[in-house]
Amino acid sequence: TVSEKPDIGSRILVFVRLRPMGKKEREAGSRYCVQTVNRRDVYLTDFANEHDYLRLKRLRGRHFSFDGSFPDSATQQEVYSTTTVKLVEAVLQGRNGSVFCYGATGAGKTYTMLGTVESPGVMVLAIKDIFNKVRQRSFDGNHLIHLSYLEVYNETVKDLLSPGRPLVLREDKQVIALLQKGNQNRMTEPTRANETSSRSHAILQVVVEYRVKDASNNIVNRVGKLSLIDLAGSERALATDQRNLRSLEGANINRSLLALSNCINALVEGKKHIPYRNSKLTQLLKDSLGGACNTIMIANISPSNLSFGETQNTLHWADRAKEI
Ligand code: ADP
Ligand code: MG
Repeated sequence: TVSEKPDIGSRILVFVRLRPMGKKEREAGSRYCVQTVNRRDVYLTDFANEHDYLRLKRLRGRHFSFDGSFPDSATQQEVYSTTTVKLVEAVLQGRNGSVFCYGATGAGKTYTMLGTVESPGVMVLAIKDIFNKVRQRSFDGNHLIHLSYLEVYNETVKDLLSPGRPLVLREDKQVIALLQKGNQNRMTEPTRANETSSRSHAILQVVVEYRVKDASNNIVNRVGKLSLIDLAGSERALATDQRNLRSLEGANINRSLLALSNCINALVEGKKHIPYRNSKLTQLLKDSLGGACNTIMIANISPSNLSFGETQNTLHWADRAKEI
């Protein structure tokens, strides 16, 4: 049937989320260089040459347009409802879907994905939504919900929750505590430029299995998988003055991010060979990118002019991702 057909042709939906100005940024005297407009556009201002009259005109700023943009006042619920709720519905129909957070370290990726106890993020809201929707289902239960929370660090995969096997989830209480505990197991080593720099990718996969009667009254097994990915910081490894081991790690991060872009490109172009094997990240997401999968990107950015370069890079990347 039509609905079972692979969804390869449809493009990735790209959203941008602006976070509030942080205390440190404010104390450092930083100014807002980003604005979101009409929940869709982003306007980036370059203050670098504001006192140079000759250059001012052409350096005013730049408009970007996305599938959606979230101002710093957007709630976690709004971000969830706009980006992920449709994928949860698809997963409950036995399809796959994935949501990626992309951006520099400190831009708000982990806040968006995991969030806090007071303001849980996409991962927690998605699991709660899955449980609510399963409870509301008219047909008789037998849903199995299990999850794995993995880290790719330096091209090595580590289980953040339950080494060796997926964790069967019987209820949605305490999910935030569970995931926060897992997140604490992530590799976050101090670096000179940024002490909270995260060089690891975190991948939460929630699998929903259930039985349903098909049109000819046969009982069939349906399996849907939702992948929620908190990517490593996208800032360039070289920018943080790291050598040897660090630059090796940087190369591996770039390898996974690059491999991800290459796979998405190949899928949209309808290529027969998709280079999933080029990195650990893409190996893990092999069944969550192509086929009947829907893909959402959330690009996270800081409003501060101190992060202008990183924000500009992230917006350019997100702008390109719209095309693929
Ligand atoms: P990343 O994971 O991209 O390195 P974080 O998610 O850790 O960045 O965010 C950096 C800091 O900014 C954290 O202290 C986080 O709580 C805060 N923060 C990020 N986004 C928001 C937001 N939308 N609202 C409030 N605080 C935020
Ligand atoms: Mg993080």
